[in-house]
Amino acid sequence: MVHVLPREYVSGESIHYLGKRYRLKVVVEPASAAEAKLRGAFVVVNVPCHDVDQIRACIDTWYRERAREVFAIRLNVISEPLRWVREVPSFRLQFMTRQWGSCSPSGRLTLNPRLVAAQREAIDYVLLHEMCHLKHYNHSSAFYRTLTLYMPDWERVKARLDDQADIFLR
Ligand SMILES: [Zn+2]
Repeated sequence: MVHVLPREYVSGESIHYLGKRYRLKVVVEPASAAEAKLRGAFVVVNVPCHDVDQIRACIDTWYRERAREVFAIRLNVISEPLRWVREVPSFRLQFMTRQWGSCSPSGRLTLNPRLVAAQREAIDYVLLHEMCHLKHYNHSSAFYRTLTLYMPDWERVKARLDDQADIFLR
């Protein structure tokens, strides 16, 4: 027997992906493996029992998978015109509560999988910001000149992302 339940025991019923809002559909089926999938307007989570922690874990795994794919594609596109980037950097994913990404002094990128909830231009902005740190390891005026050269309207994109941060980071 299959029960289809709304998201009642976790905060909010919306799942954001690439700036679009999807609805969570929890399908409880005793024999099923726990996993989340995008199906039309829904993010369908199959679980063997209605366990909030397991549902959340499924969604997080799904975000990580989507993020790994989307960020790799966008990093390739964004790196293309950047002369100081000889090789598209690898990145690691880490859920963070207040940060979209960071770049270590050795050039290692860490990205928040929840960023994949945002519009593509917001993803591009964060990736470009971190890539600019490979040239300027600070937030100097030279850093912002470089950022502006490659994304002239980054301030608009950042303002929109900041507005939605509470929703996406939830
Ligand atoms: Zn920065």
